[in-house]
Amino acid sequence: MHIVVLPLPLQGHVNICLAIAKMLVSQGCSFTFVLTQDLAGNVAQHQGIHFATVASHGSCFADSFDHSSCLSIMKSIRPGFEELLQKLLLSSEAGVSCIMADSYVTWSREVAAQFGVPRYVLYVSNAHTLAIALHVPSLVSQGLVHGGDPGILIDCIPGVLPLRARDLPQSVRLMPEFNKEMVKDMHKAAGAIFNTVEGWESNPLKTIKETLPVYPVGPSLLAPGFVESPSKEKPGVWAEDRSCLAWLDTLPPSSVLYVSFGSLATMSIDQMRELAEGLEASGQPFLWVVRSNIANSSVDDVLPQDFGERTRDRGLIIRWAPQLEVLAHAAVGGFLTHCGWNSIVENLCKACVPMLCWPHLGEQRLNARLLVDEWKAGIELVQDDDGWVKKEAVAKAVKELMRGEVGECLRDNALRLKETACLAWQEGGSSCRYLQSLIQDIKNLSTGVKAID
Ligand code: UDP
Repeated sequence: MHIVVLPLPLQGHVNICLAIAKMLVSQGCSFTFVLTQDLAGNVAQHQGIHFATVASHGSCFADSFDHSSCLSIMKSIRPGFEELLQKLLLSSEAGVSCIMADSYVTWSREVAAQFGVPRYVLYVSNAHTLAIALHVPSLVSQGLVHGGDPGILIDCIPGVLPLRARDLPQSVRLMPEFNKEMVKDMHKAAGAIFNTVEGWESNPLKTIKETLPVYPVGPSLLAPGFVESPSKEKPGVWAEDRSCLAWLDTLPPSSVLYVSFGSLATMSIDQMRELAEGLEASGQPFLWVVRSNIANSSVDDVLPQDFGERTRDRGLIIRWAPQLEVLAHAAVGGFLTHCGWNSIVENLCKACVPMLCWPHLGEQRLNARLLVDEWKAGIELVQDDDGWVKKEAVAKAVKELMRGEVGECLRDNALRLKETACLAWQEGGSSCRYLQSLIQDIKNLSTGVKAID
């Protein structure tokens, strides 16, 4: 089968879509994977995956991240995508069995219909987020979304843990029209594919199943036959700094706090300095990813004076990490994370270190609730009402995470989640079964045979 994958041109979205594609390659599928130039870099070909570059009006990474400009960049690639699809349908021997489109690419529904190709949605977050998105009309009619009290408790969403209104995903709170369009679009899809595990999110998955078929086929990193990409072959805007791996080799097991806020979160310079002082005061070794655009300023301007000197023996700052290898390194003992879904899943697959949650945007507040309240695999950094995190809070939480009994409990719970994920990939396990039914359903759809329930 030949499948065309269309991710939103953002690092986290591309990473999940590629991970799912690579997993399906091991099942005999081949892929055309669509990228914009900024993310394509030097990436040419992975086993079974051909990368195609389409023109776009700009890059989502040009300035600090903004949802609406990113969606308009996505709109701008439609003509190039249509041309590509046309070419593939005419030229490729296998034809196109289906499109797997990022849930944010809402125009993919029209394009798939126009070309008569089945379309699956690649849902780049977890099932909790989609269960909430599907329930938005009811939340709106109850006045729970816009302009209401952000502290109000919402415990009426089927399958979803109780949340404060402020913990709802940003797409729900700030982009209701887009959310509506996305949900309408989901209803028309052949199914939704998730990088999650049934055993992690059985309740929201049950709810979503009432609307459309679901395929929780994660975590792809643990799928049999999954092969990780070498550093230089990963699509991305920043080059990985691999020197940190040799630095980690010099440190004792479980001693280093890995600090990363993913590819989109930004922070004020003052907050960066406060965090730096908190890390210093914790006395714990740290590896900190400071992206060139995290505070729209150079690293030297962002950090307190002499910070590098003072923490030289136990701190390393880099621009972009080989995150999977860092998490897998024995020296890493804790993860200060923005709670991006990829980062959470990667930690559960590779490290199972306790997580210190500092959510920033998207659905990260919801993810933090899941980690802290339901899975008990993380603790949350205390934020003021305006989101400010004090250095004292950082130092205290880091010590608790890395040296206290709390950290041990969190690690045990993370290990249990990993065990659930490993079982899902054993013969007869949930991810194995969903993967087989996904493949069968695509085959049936692409040959016009109706799936037998
Ligand atoms: N990542 C990386 N190096 C870094 C920081 C992040 O390779 O220094 C990768 C990480 O492994 C993950 C992705 O970038 O796959 C970030 O995705 P996530 O969903 O965690 O957050 P987002 O960037 O979408 O906010």
